[in-house]
Amino acid sequence: MATCEIVVREASMCIFRALKWLFETVLWVALYPWKKTATRPESVNYHFTRQCNYQCGFCFHTAKTSFVLPLDDAKRGLLMLKEAGMCKINFSGGEPFIHQKGEYVGELVRYCKEELQLESVTIVSNGSLIKEEWFQKYGRYLDILAISCDSFNEDTNYTIGRRQGNKSHLSTLKPIEGWCRAYRVAFKINTVVNIHNWEEDMSSEILELNPVRWKVFQCLLIGGENVGPDAKRNAESFVILDHQFQSFLKRHQNVKQLVPESNSMMRDSYLILDEYMRFLDCTKGRKDPSKSILDVGVANALKFSGFDEAMFLKRGGKYTWSKRDMKLEW
Ligand code: SF4
Repeated sequence: MATCEIVVREASMCIFRALKWLFETVLWVALYPWKKTATRPESVNYHFTRQCNYQCGFCFHTAKTSFVLPLDDAKRGLLMLKEAGMCKINFSGGEPFIHQKGEYVGELVRYCKEELQLESVTIVSNGSLIKEEWFQKYGRYLDILAISCDSFNEDTNYTIGRRQGNKSHLSTLKPIEGWCRAYRVAFKINTVVNIHNWEEDMSSEILELNPVRWKVFQCLLIGGENVGPDAKRNAESFVILDHQFQSFLKRHQNVKQLVPESNSMMRDSYLILDEYMRFLDCTKGRKDPSKSILDVGVANALKFSGFDEAMFLKRGGKYTWSKRDMKLEW
């Protein structure tokens, strides 16, 4: 009789454990989509054009279309993002100053700062098409301007493809840094470390230009953009190994503005909107688009963004991004 009781008790415990496991699994699966959608689009990168006047060999947002949303639609999308919790917008491309000679991005910058009152409005550009008149008209609305510069050696820029014809890329940097100071825009530099520049020492020129932030990326492969049969670039010959990236970082450890971004940090930690205002999910090593936020709303589109909020915070995605908080000496 006693043996029989023990067997029954053991069997009951087994069933209880199995049910507990089943309940926890079902609960996790049920909550998983909610967890993924609980994200607020706090910081968004809007690549509104894919057109560019440069031909960088590693470019990972290439000219696959020439589409740009009508201005009113772009503003409508930006308003929806603000209502969903956006605090920072970055305009990128392609080259943002190529469309309507910078007037389009200028009007979006003004709209986001003056009408939407976003904390931070920023642009990433190659710098080659920016004129002082643009700063006169729109500089007051812009918090940060990031200019791409991978090398202070003109031949290296030429090899990478950071150029338009024979025009010097480097000649654009100093005037832009001066205009940023004159019109009170924080100046930033972005560098992609690749096979052609990983051994370079950029310290003295960077220290002289004195950006508020120097973002240093490891060259990244994205299927359909810079690798694969349907890509417009083949960046495989530009890729470097982790130890090469680390050696570049070590060489520049005296530059306090340096913010490194390895491949693993970069891939899923950005909320990227393409020219149709679709979120691009990079988790599978390519850019899988959601539906446009203009058609399905921000919350629904966000479910397909692949955004890793923890990695966003880990890579320092939240920083002092408003120029009024930077205490800059202009
Ligand atoms: S500047 Fe180079 S990396 Fe940037 S969008 Fe143009 S081609 Fe691509």
